[in-house]
Amino acid sequence: MQFSAKYDVAVAGAGVAGVAAALESARCGRRTALVEKTILPGGLATTGMVNIYLPLCDGKGTQVTFGIAEELLHLSIRYGPGDVPPGWAGGRNAIATPRYAVAFNPASFILALDEALVAAGADLWLDTLVCAPVMSGERITGLEVENKSGRGVLQAKCVVDATGDADVAARAGAECAHGENWASIWAIQASLDKARQAAGQGSGAPLLDCVRLGGDDAGRGAPSARRWRGTSGREVSDFVVETRRLLLDYYKARHAAAGPEGRSNLFPLTLPSMAQFRTTRRIVGQATLSDGQHGRHSPDSVGLVADWRKVGHVWEIPYGTLLPRKAAGLLVVGRCISSEGDAWQVTRVIPPAALTGQVAGLAAALAAQRGTTPDALDAADLQAALRAKGIPLRLGDVGL
Ligand SMILES: Cc1cc2nc3c(=O)[nH]c(=O)nc-3n(C[C@H](O)[C@H](O)[C@H](O)COP(=O)(O)OP(=O)(O)OC[C@H]3O[C@@H](n4cnc5c(N)ncnc54)[C@H](O)[C@@H]3O)c2cc1C
Repeated sequence: MQFSAKYDVAVAGAGVAGVAAALESARCGRRTALVEKTILPGGLATTGMVNIYLPLCDGKGTQVTFGIAEELLHLSIRYGPGDVPPGWAGGRNAIATPRYAVAFNPASFILALDEALVAAGADLWLDTLVCAPVMSGERITGLEVENKSGRGVLQAKCVVDATGDADVAARAGAECAHGENWASIWAIQASLDKARQAAGQGSGAPLLDCVRLGGDDAGRGAPSARRWRGTSGREVSDFVVETRRLLLDYYKARHAAAGPEGRSNLFPLTLPSMAQFRTTRRIVGQATLSDGQHGRHSPDSVGLVADWRKVGHVWEIPYGTLLPRKAAGLLVVGRCISSEGDAWQVTRVIPPAALTGQVAGLAAALAAQRGTTPDALDAADLQAALRAKGIPLRLGDVGL
């Protein structure tokens, strides 16, 4: 190995979930590494051009998700256009509609995330690929990584898998399940129409023009269309080329219809630089969220999330959904927690990613301090620590 370092907590992947985990762990005073294969924090929300921070509220006027998930929503618009809807700016239980969500500029969000991570004291390893977990028997004790310096090892008392695809968990031998995806692409475009609108309104917000092609909002395409898993290297490359072709066909058609001026009046401004898969691989955890479990009580709940599609559907997230059945020392967060069927549609988006990231950061920090593994923590201790941070755990905590 060319290099090594020791940490209390190592987080693999700096998407929204990994950022939240690293922020929480570092703020708890633990030596924390955040390892990201690109050079940008935010994952799909930034490099992936997914610029809608879905709601923290239930659609009936009650905020359900708090903590770093709410902090990141505000960071997403701190250095760019976008506004918290009227009624939510001042606090809780505001008005029923519009929901507590924002559209943001990915580049502005990246700058705010950098600032927050540095202030928290997290050790950023950018342009660094997590290659494999380091195992001691069935316990994970670090991450093998690769970057400009060569191969290295980051030893850690606890590891958080925030790769979005459960890469670390799968390689550590944890049981996993697969989802499927249809070809779809989101990208940010520029046009004279939007520029005129922005100038007319005196706001840059209309410039956040996200073009969405392929599947519907949940990513579904025609029943007969090809499905993609997104967990083989060959498939990822083919998916990216195929989805960019959708974009090319769109601009060819628009330019052909507009005539010679078409290409300078409407064009792609920023393309996603990571593959836009929604549901790839997830762990089969110690608990699994399934269809219809909204509104139900879970004894080891670590927070609440709302269904972004359905009004009034609120879910308690069991701690066990972050814990693989095998591989002690590991927590899994974000879009690859243990959640199946329609429940996966609820938990795979930005607010649950941030919430589960914060929970894992806190659990890892507690476990590292106590010299134990996250699966051996008393859920009641973790719940008490979350409550102390103002995070509601039960539907009743927010009056539901
Ligand atoms: C087309 C599309 C539209 C969507 N629309 C919305 C929407 O409107 N609103 C919403 O809230 N959600 C939306 N989502 C879902 C949402 O964006 C993501 O699911 C969420 O951001 C996931 O966050 P995450 O941190 O779990 O994972 P990711 O964002 O996938 O982050 C994983 C990070 O880990 C890094 N990584 C992976 N493997 C390694 C490795 N081996 N070594 C080092 N780093 C690694 C990646 O580079 C990445 O930065 C959409 C998703 C897609 C694909």
